[in-house]
Amino acid sequence: MTNNEKVLVVDFGGQYNQLIARRVRECNVYCEIISYRAGIEAIRAAAPKGIIFTGGPNSVYLEDSPTMDPAVFELGIPVLGICYGSQLMMHLLGGHVCRAPEREYGKTLVHVDTKSPMFQDVNPDTICWMSHNDYIETPAPGFAVTAYTDNCPVAAVENQEKNLYAVQFHPEVLHTQEGKKMLHNFVYEVCGCKGDWKMDSFVERSVTALREKIGDGKVLCALSGGVDSSVAAAMLSKAVGNQLTCVFVDHGLLRKNEMEQVCEIFGGGEFEMNFICVDARQRYYDKLAGVEEPEKKRKIIGEEFVRIFEEEAKKIGRVDFLVQGTIYPDVVESGLGGESTVIKSHHNVGGLPDYVDFKEIVEPLRDLFKDEVRQAGRELGLPEYLVSRQPFPGPGLAVRIIGEVTPEKVAMVQDADAIWREEIAKAGLEGQLSQYFAALTNMRSVGVMGDERTYDYAIALRAVTTVDFMTAESAEIPWSVLQTVTSRIVNEVKHVNRVLYDCTGKPPATIEFE
Ligand code: GLN
Repeated sequence: MTNNEKVLVVDFGGQYNQLIARRVRECNVYCEIISYRAGIEAIRAAAPKGIIFTGGPNSVYLEDSPTMDPAVFELGIPVLGICYGSQLMMHLLGGHVCRAPEREYGKTLVHVDTKSPMFQDVNPDTICWMSHNDYIETPAPGFAVTAYTDNCPVAAVENQEKNLYAVQFHPEVLHTQEGKKMLHNFVYEVCGCKGDWKMDSFVERSVTALREKIGDGKVLCALSGGVDSSVAAAMLSKAVGNQLTCVFVDHGLLRKNEMEQVCEIFGGGEFEMNFICVDARQRYYDKLAGVEEPEKKRKIIGEEFVRIFEEEAKKIGRVDFLVQGTIYPDVVESGLGGESTVIKSHHNVGGLPDYVDFKEIVEPLRDLFKDEVRQAGRELGLPEYLVSRQPFPGPGLAVRIIGEVTPEKVAMVQDADAIWREEIAKAGLEGQLSQYFAALTNMRSVGVMGDERTYDYAIALRAVTTVDFMTAESAEIPWSVLQTVTSRIVNEVKHVNRVLYDCTGKPPATIEFE
């Protein structure tokens, strides 16, 4: 327990709840998340300086939707409602919430009243991130409207006297340009916090804790060569040295030349760790034959990973711990981040089989966002090229091939992806993009090549910018680059006759296709 001043985030199932907590902590104010199910008694007992209601997937006006005792607004503690939280506050206090005539997703221009304590020093016209189907049609009595958009007449409301504030948009995501300032305003101007809390070094704390937990036991680390598992491996290597063995699985769903690259980095003596590379390509192709449903594909891949790790652990002998580079967005999207909905099962979280033959699964990065993981990697002394690599999903190209996976389709995506990456590098765009790849849409269409009719596949190109991977925007790629890539792909990759560019952000799409 801490004696510091505290802000309480009440979880109604939003995707960004940890981000809210992180932003508050970045203001040097201690912050905890509790489920709405804990109820008003738990809130009262915590005696916070402020309360934040999160977003959530439900609609407040439907029966059985998450709710709260309206007495929470009478505790004399400031409350900020975000999205679902804002709608709930209005609904409970006598306003009217209903399905919006126009849904809003993504960047939206919001006009704010800068006289509001929430919007102090904020630009009157400011870009905010929206993700909602419902809206506040009429605010509750006693509330003044302090922001609006073209489609949303009530984008923020407040009752200054009672210290109740509500915003329809998400100030916690970085795409809300002045969101940090707004949360800072709430925490300092409205709640009156002084900022008496400081985060200690995550790396040091974790290394000590891991050493204690593992003792002289043996550890197996599931290494994909991506940023997360590499950082987890480095952390474990620092904690327990050569009690650690890293296992890399080639599941036949890797990017072109990736197996060779990972083996060179981790098996090549640059790192002092025991490293094993398992060729499981055929095994995965057999298991995935005929499977089309994305969640089923993810579960099969997740299960096979664990079975391979168990086999390798048996060969080493006496391995108690399996380490995974799970990070926070994996946890939330798998529907395990409190009250949030399943978006997709990450192989290392929701995709785990029911029975796992290890004493314990250790996930040192489970509470971190991507940018924080990269920072931890730097503190651990990993080379920058590794730390700044773009993410690659554990299930690999299987989630970039819509529908059934076959070795032929894998080869098509690998080749198209290699061309896309090569041309992006040539154009010097790498540093501006957070993630970019090619996917196979599984859609076939008619084309004409060399005067002959073709009936072939369409490749989708994707490139996004984001900081924390919780929200993302489709990147503006110069047309000339897209043209070069398109003509190279249709010329060089067999059975592709069409190339599409994905213009969708997250939300409403996710970054990967499945
Ligand atoms: N489900 C509600 C809506 O669609 C709230 C969404 C949210 O909190 N992001 O409006």
